[in-house]
Amino acid sequence: MATGWGSLLQDEQQLEELARQAVDRALAEGVLLRTSQAPSSSHVVSYAPFTLFPSPVPSALLEQAYAVQADFNLLVDAVSQNAVFLEQTLSSTIKRDSFTAHLFDIHKQVLKEGIAQTVFLGLNRSDYMFQCNPDGTTALKQIEINTISASFGGLASRTPAVHRHVLSVLGKTKEAAKILSNNPSKGLAMGIAKAWELYGSANAQVLLIAQEKERNIFDQRAIENELLARNIHVIRRRFEDVSEKGSLDQDRRLFMDGQEVAVVYFRDGYMPGHYSLQNWEARLLLERSCAVKCPDIATQLAGTKKVQQELSRAGMLESLLPGQPEAVARLRATFAGLYSLDLGEEGDQAITKAIAAPSCFVLKPQREGGGNNLYGEEMVQALERLRDSEERASYILMEKIEPEPFRNCLLRPGSPARVIQCISELGIFGVYVREGKTLVMNKHVGHLLRTKAIEHADGGVAAGVAVLDNPYPV
Ligand code: ADP
Ligand code: MG
Repeated sequence: MATGWGSLLQDEQQLEELARQAVDRALAEGVLLRTSQAPSSSHVVSYAPFTLFPSPVPSALLEQAYAVQADFNLLVDAVSQNAVFLEQTLSSTIKRDSFTAHLFDIHKQVLKEGIAQTVFLGLNRSDYMFQCNPDGTTALKQIEINTISASFGGLASRTPAVHRHVLSVLGKTKEAAKILSNNPSKGLAMGIAKAWELYGSANAQVLLIAQEKERNIFDQRAIENELLARNIHVIRRRFEDVSEKGSLDQDRRLFMDGQEVAVVYFRDGYMPGHYSLQNWEARLLLERSCAVKCPDIATQLAGTKKVQQELSRAGMLESLLPGQPEAVARLRATFAGLYSLDLGEEGDQAITKAIAAPSCFVLKPQREGGGNNLYGEEMVQALERLRDSEERASYILMEKIEPEPFRNCLLRPGSPARVIQCISELGIFGVYVREGKTLVMNKHVGHLLRTKAIEHADGGVAAGVAVLDNPYPV
């Protein structure tokens, strides 16, 4: 994949000047993060790290990723409604993974009591890398789908202007025009607005569950702002606030500080560290309510890595999406090799294969947020340790995707601009809304490109590894 920026990346002086202009434009556009020193305050902020140039993405793969998004929305929605599939799929995992077990407990409790929620809202992001095949062709391969707190839709709406600016400074107006417009925050807000409308109470608000220490607040604000523009009010609260001031009435309508809540949008609650005992209770209260949770607990479970692995089994997509062979084919084409590590022969074989060829596999626990996977020698050691233990069922094994590296320049606050070998990960945002059995919205609403140095096996933007980018279609 030729980038076209080759010679530009060699002129250090020009790079420095371009970097200064790019950073100023990023700040002006609102490509912002709070600082790690003061994550609860917006008094002093900085720019979110980004690439100086957009990175090459094969247009055909970009189109493919967009085309399969509505199918992934359907699939997640189908899994979330299939209690039998969730129970069977997660039964071995929840024996050994207490976080997934806790989520599953809440799921069971809500099912037992009866689901009060009638409108369902999914805001997800399906992430891909571009596998480089031995014959030189590239293929779109899904890394994972995020069904809770899928982030950077807000900031991704603001980065195209920055890259257009850089290319315009260089007089590359034709190239600048190739940078796609992108507005995920608007699309995500449209989904929330639709769910709010269907909930049907003019004075009800949207409750955004967030942490106080939140560096990525401007990303969230972008969605809040879109909602306010539609006259929908958003209140930001922590799980702790829900414990203290949240309540349900006899119809299980949710109230916060005495105000009715139509939609609960989680930007928290996807990692074990987000939950104290009190927070688990708050989560249960929210789940029991008839407010539209984004996501509801079943949809969060549908986004686990164990579910992803089970979906790749022969016949599974067909049984979850009956009568939709075209959607099934589009979905399956994006699947990489995924292997169960449950005790038994199948899991034993997967372990043997991974130990024999560690560079071809990734070991994944049931975690979100980056930095949890194991690679190479570390993976081998973990597999040897886990081999005879039931604990191995809390992991899955995945084929490692090998994209072709390219050069770009990464810009981070406090660090000199660095030209390095990079790889990218493309995310497509999807939105769906269902009322009872009727799907009333199902679409894609934009993209996110993140780029990182090849030496980092794992980690996203929040983890300090990847930076924001834009696809440059080639
Ligand atoms: P998380 O939920 O922590 O984001 P991911 O499955 O997205 O978990 O993995 C985190 C990162 O690890 C990804 O952003 C990607 O950079 C890398 N990664 C994950 N799976 C693979 C894979 N199969 N091949 C290559 N890199 C991978
Ligand atoms: Mg990820």
